[in-house]
Amino acid sequence: MPSLLERMDGRIEVATSGCWEWQGARTKAGYGQIHCDGKAMYVHRIVAALVFKQELKRKDVILHLCDNPCCCNPVHLRIGTQRENIYDAVAKGRLDFVHLEQRPRGAAHPAYKGSNWSRRIVRRCKGVVSSYFLADIFSVGQTTIRRWAKE
Ligand SMILES: [Zn+2]
Repeated sequence: MPSLLERMDGRIEVATSGCWEWQGARTKAGYGQIHCDGKAMYVHRIVAALVFKQELKRKDVILHLCDNPCCCNPVHLRIGTQRENIYDAVAKGRLDFVHLEQRPRGAAHPAYKGSNWSRRIVRRCKGVVSSYFLADIFSVGQTTIRRWAKE
């Protein structure tokens, strides 16, 4: 049984804009959805909860800095209640929105641990969240996180 993240990993296409566009089900408003334990969940909220390591409350608004509702690139997301974090990093130019490489179509998906997707998150989040925090999310050591960040 693949984990939720493994299931998500296969359904994200990186657009030339840098957006991680959800290829699975979408709501009418365009938000990506995935089923988890029989419940439909918003993909961008799952990614935000993972990256910001914060259980999201119903009132927590996830904003798309890119105005692309199907996008779940963590650096394009901001929790309304946590503005000082990613948003300020973007404003200060510490994060760039350079184009990411296209995900090869039809390529076999590597195991979640160490997949391009997890490495991409680590590289994007460098300097915004701690390596301790990222190591915890991806269940690898901080040395591995630092290595990924340099790739
Ligand atoms: Zn985006």
